[in-house]
Amino acid sequence: MKIVFATNNKHKLEEIKDILGKNFEIISLTEIGCHEDIPETGSTLQENARQKSTYVVEHYNRNCFADDTGLEVEALGGEPGVYSARYAEGTDHDSEANMRKLLAKMEGQSNRKACFRTVISLIIDGVEHQFEGKVEGQIATEKHGSEGFGYDPIFIPEGYDKSFAELGEEIKNQISHRARAVKKLAEHLEKIKK
Ligand code: IMP
Repeated sequence: MKIVFATNNKHKLEEIKDILGKNFEIISLTEIGCHEDIPETGSTLQENARQKSTYVVEHYNRNCFADDTGLEVEALGGEPGVYSARYAEGTDHDSEANMRKLLAKMEGQSNRKACFRTVISLIIDGVEHQFEGKVEGQIATEKHGSEGFGYDPIFIPEGYDKSFAELGEEIKNQISHRARAVKKLAEHLEKIKK
């Protein structure tokens, strides 16, 4: 089965191809000729994921899934959440600026609990299913490590004493929010495989 993954992020594509294995052919937006920025104007991860998958179905008539991820920090009432990519004002996907802002807001804060949450919206033959994955952890007081992307250098997953950026891809892909959501997606796809 061929399914479009509504992303052009190579990192995410590889991660998801790894988990879904060979039973499904995952194709990117570029491969279907979609070069526009798909709107993400929802106020929840669920809405944004659905907005992206629906866009691909409506404009390209393809089976598709899309994901949306947020880092939710307990002491900040769930911030940056759905705004994780553009947390630092006037920026978009500027990880350094986003981490600087978050670390500044967390200065002196003893409750450093946080979680990453991913929602995947899958649309097959017009029917939508959503899958959620979550990983709990702590916000470090400073950056550690150089692997990964986004907030990885300041997120220490539960059960570890290193950041995602220090733990590296292999461990991250076993325990991450996205990996957990993708495993649920994979189980569902196996069930409906044609
Ligand atoms: P997206 O919805 O996957 O594009 O994620 C939104 C933002 O959350 C990204 O721009 C990153 O800043 C952050 N993010 C998403 N996934 C991860 C991750 O696995 N590690 C660190 N940051 C992430």
